[in-house]
Amino acid sequence: MLQAVSRHDFDRLMMPTYAPASFVPVRAAGSRLWDQQEKEYIDFAGGIAVNALGHAHPQLQQALVQQASQLWHTGNGYTNEPVLRLAQQLVDATFADRVFFCNSGAEANEAALKLARKYGHDRSGGAKSGIVAFTNAFHGRTLFTVSAGGQPAYSKDFAPLPPDISHGTFNDLASAAALINENTCAVIVEPIQGEGGVLPASAAFLQGLRDLCDQHQALLIFDEVQSGVGRTGSLYAYMHYGVTPDVLTTAKALGGGFPIGAMLTRESLAAIMGVGTHGTTYGGNPLAAAVAGKVMELINTPEMLQGVEMRHRWFVDGLEAINQRCNLFSEIRGLGLLLGAVLNEKWAGKAKMFNLAAADAGVMVLIAGANVVRFAPALNISEEEVRQGLERFARACETLVEDDAR
Ligand SMILES: *Cc1c(COP(=O)(O)O)cnc(C)c1O
Repeated sequence: MLQAVSRHDFDRLMMPTYAPASFVPVRAAGSRLWDQQEKEYIDFAGGIAVNALGHAHPQLQQALVQQASQLWHTGNGYTNEPVLRLAQQLVDATFADRVFFCNSGAEANEAALKLARKYGHDRSGGAKSGIVAFTNAFHGRTLFTVSAGGQPAYSKDFAPLPPDISHGTFNDLASAAALINENTCAVIVEPIQGEGGVLPASAAFLQGLRDLCDQHQALLIFDEVQSGVGRTGSLYAYMHYGVTPDVLTTAKALGGGFPIGAMLTRESLAAIMGVGTHGTTYGGNPLAAAVAGKVMELINTPEMLQGVEMRHRWFVDGLEAINQRCNLFSEIRGLGLLLGAVLNEKWAGKAKMFNLAAADAGVMVLIAGANVVRFAPALNISEEEVRQGLERFARACETLVEDDAR
């Protein structure tokens, strides 16, 4: 018999780094989820842009169970069949010639930043160490990646931080141009800032960064941890923008819920990271790679990617209709199925209230900062699930408006 547990046990047992919802999910299928009390939720959060094929997808289950009966782990003293197949899929589908596997987005960015620093060392003997990033960016929680992220609130308490990282203003090319020079080894940017508020880069900004990097022999790193694997309606957002990075990081949706991350790059840059320069015990684990291989197979099809655009319309139309009635949002923004409803002046700072009211009404939504309600549902969410979820979200919004009028 398993021991009975409840949300109260979280506050007793867990490090207080998170403040999870008051309910405990126990099972899910597609874009529906149930908690310990059997209450049903429509999932518009997607495990923070992770469950790109929804919950308990039959073909992902099959890939996992099949691999679980064969080989779980060997460590990187041995390679394995699923990881070689997955690497081939990623190389075939992108600009990249080589892949490094790890277990999370932060680790993929850590690998990219280490590659960039070594690139600078190899070229200049150490002077070319500058990393240019952007304010409000999010790249993960390791010390290096949290320092690259442009939210001092997340990094300042862990000083001293890794040096020689500077921050320009997102979508302001002049601010980047002022920071990029011959001592810059890399520029790291999210094509769409996710945690920072669902803010797409302009095409001119990304192309301008590409040109500046070329001019100064700096590497352009696209952090596609949130924007990748079909999220924008293209397999990777760089394809949508038509600007190709030197290094791309991917994680979140890549495993559809099984932890995996990867750094992709070209042959000449891969050569910098010779045997022993970097590594991780679980990277390229056969279980993770088998699931990710199936995720790639299912998502990288014209039908799935075109379906993202159609679903984008359902969401935008539904949220605009809610806004007509309730007058809450100043803007609905984002690409594909990474959407942000920006709260207007009257509701600014209250995104968490919407998250709580939505859960009450039976729909899970995310926030991105205090001013943006974020939606990152499964790419295969059904029309009925979207309709029902939006209906519940509308009810949540109406409740907030009514309570406010009282
Ligand atoms: C989530 C995220 C990360 C960090 O990924 P983890 O798997 O949490 O380490 C990095 N970059 C972006 C853009 C993200 O959205």
